[in-house]
Amino acid sequence: MKIAFLGLGAIGRPMAARLAPLHQLTVWNRTAERAAAFASEHGARQASSPRDAAAGAEVVITCLPTSADVLSLLDGPDGLLAGLERGTLFLDCTSGDAATTRHIAERLAPLGVDFADAPVSGGTNGAAAGTLTVMVGGDPAVFERAMPVLSAFGKRIVHMGSLGTGDSMKAVNNMLLGVNILALGEGLTALVKAGVSPRVAVETLNASSGRSFVSESLIPDRVLTGAWPNTFRLALLEKDAGICLQMLRELGLPAPLLERAGALLHEARGILGEGADYLEPIRLAERRSGAEIRG
Ligand code: NDP
Repeated sequence: MKIAFLGLGAIGRPMAARLAPLHQLTVWNRTAERAAAFASEHGARQASSPRDAAAGAEVVITCLPTSADVLSLLDGPDGLLAGLERGTLFLDCTSGDAATTRHIAERLAPLGVDFADAPVSGGTNGAAAGTLTVMVGGDPAVFERAMPVLSAFGKRIVHMGSLGTGDSMKAVNNMLLGVNILALGEGLTALVKAGVSPRVAVETLNASSGRSFVSESLIPDRVLTGAWPNTFRLALLEKDAGICLQMLRELGLPAPLLERAGALLHEARGILGEGADYLEPIRLAERRSGAEIRG
């Protein structure tokens, strides 16, 4: 299939790399050198603009920080709308927001382009291994069309419901991820301060009922080891928490715990900066307590 992939960031790159051996791939990235490097490594075509990427593509995939970024690629002489052809399938793997997703779909409808939100979970390693979870919002027929494409990088591909429900699912998932990170920072530093060895605390937690993906996988691999790799920016996690809170407000649901977590992630983003990794709020807990989760 002729597929265009736009957005070769931390997660977009390994997703596109999974498509390259299976399809005729065209790539576009805002910073052109990154697309050039990817194209030469994976034998893909580098497009000169979003319009050039979309021209002739049967499927267009975007993976940008926000839905607003995707919307910004639509217009202008070099925009996607100028290149998209009737019948094209457009999948947005951005962790976006439902309102903007529906707006994008409205812009695409007159062109006869099928659109679905298809955000992913599973991290950069999951993308490279092809084991991502993909949360799809859109018509059932569009979901069926998307399945074979998404299976290049997705293992569990779930139809969540109508347009925007993939975004909603992803936003709640990542809010809960953020809650776990913040809670583990506070809980584990307290245990260390109380005299428990960090490794023993983590191992005991992981054999008990307070465990989570963060405690079982991320803390042992990245925090106890002191590796702290940069794979997913805290700024993007905080953006996801904001989308979740907006959704709760629109639904008229009070969520005092999640509001507080969102505020703490916002504060952490301000302190740690745009390049910080999503686990780094744990560093703030370490700094505040004077206890290190290492061992
Ligand atoms: P990065 O910040 O690593 O990369 C962002 C990508 O988007 C880059 O290719 C960047 O181009 C491009 N970009 C940014 N702004 C614009 C714009 N205004 N117009 C065009 N291109 C733009 O993000 P990730 O790859 O980590 O994340 C992408 C999406 O996937 C986000 O929604 C994120 O929440 C989600 N996600 C990320 C995961 C991860 O583990 N990293 C896991 C699951 C979901 P340039 O190279 O020029 O900067």
